[in-house]
Amino acid sequence: MKKIIITQISEKKIKAGNPLLQMEDFPNVLSFDEGEIVELVDSRQAFVARAYLAKQNKGVGWVFSLDSADSFNEAFFKNKFEKAKRKRTDLQADPETTTYRLFNAEGDGIPGVTIDHYDGFAVISWYSEGIFRYQAAITAAFQAIFPETKGIYEKFRYQRNDGLISRFVSGEEAPTPLIVKENGINYATYLDDGLMTGIFLDQREVRGALTERYAAGKRVLNTFSYTGAFSVAAAMGGAIETTSVDVANRSLERTKEQFAVNNLDDEDQKIYVMDVFDFIRYAIRKELQYDVTIIDPPSFARTKKRTFSVTKDYTQLLEELIQITAPDGTLIVSSNAANYKEKNFKQDIAQAFKNSHCDYRILETFHLPSDFSVPAGSKTSDYLKVFIIKKLAR
Ligand code: SAH
Repeated sequence: MKKIIITQISEKKIKAGNPLLQMEDFPNVLSFDEGEIVELVDSRQAFVARAYLAKQNKGVGWVFSLDSADSFNEAFFKNKFEKAKRKRTDLQADPETTTYRLFNAEGDGIPGVTIDHYDGFAVISWYSEGIFRYQAAITAAFQAIFPETKGIYEKFRYQRNDGLISRFVSGEEAPTPLIVKENGINYATYLDDGLMTGIFLDQREVRGALTERYAAGKRVLNTFSYTGAFSVAAAMGGAIETTSVDVANRSLERTKEQFAVNNLDDEDQKIYVMDVFDFIRYAIRKELQYDVTIIDPPSFARTKKRTFSVTKDYTQLLEELIQITAPDGTLIVSSNAANYKEKNFKQDIAQAFKNSHCDYRILETFHLPSDFSVPAGSKTSDYLKVFIIKKLAR
């Protein structure tokens, strides 16, 4: 096995529990085959860790063990799946929630692969060609530990030569749509329709908070609404009306369907297929006001008219949405961009309220839920930041 020297800084980082490898961790030129297993050593050739190398959007590989006796094989994978299963017994036993993350990559010990549970079906996401090299062994180990799995789908979150992004793998095919439950609410999902299934599972606790504590009797605006999951969570919590805004055409049909599968009348639910920035202008002109405003934009978006990047444009977006939020209203402000630090996000929030001549109070803060396990030494793995904020009238 190839021994590769890493820097002292890298050694420290790895020993502190951060498994991500980046170019700067290697003092010498790095060349490797996708998925190649290597031994990382210090400048005196002493063992530090075992890793696999792979090009991916975040770096060039992952440490999988600090134990020189560990191999990246089926027995190793089984052991990780067993632990992951034990960690999620509460979710597994909860009849009100039939969808959650079963296995979270580096947080559960196999970097580069996640597995989501959708009412008995599994969706495996591969993040690099390197990890996909182990697909057969990982899938076999998964099936051994989760024999109850009805069917398996997979997603490719790296550029493949054949352009494939999603496919059915084995077992039974899921119904279309597949109705899953979260906190007792139904969601229509599609397991083989591109990369996204119709619901972002990492927002479970935020949707739960909205249903339980913030929606009753309120007018709710859901911007960047996708399939309207937040709108449905609000309506089920007793919102008197919801407004969903998304620029994607498919969002209309999908959002209607989410209401329908919960027997909610869509008369009180407005759905706009529209650029959020145009909608804001429209709402300001019409003097519309909302009691609860939800903001969960993509990290980066380009429409015909403009580009939006959370790190650069969040302040202004928020400032505009503060305007159409009622005095004493609530804003649910979210970002899933790993490169957008919580500190900067909070500064942008402060700036937006300052520019709006408004006071505010952060009522609740959310990060990834416990099924999205994060390694202790790798803060950037916890990419989700959500603040529930009260706008205070001056
Ligand atoms: N908040 C959603 C997920 C949002 S995903 C949820 O919890 O389910 C991001 C969405 O933003 C996509 O559906 C995309 O179509 C939409 N989007 C991107 N740019 C937009 C824009 N300028 N105006 C409106 N929607 C936009």
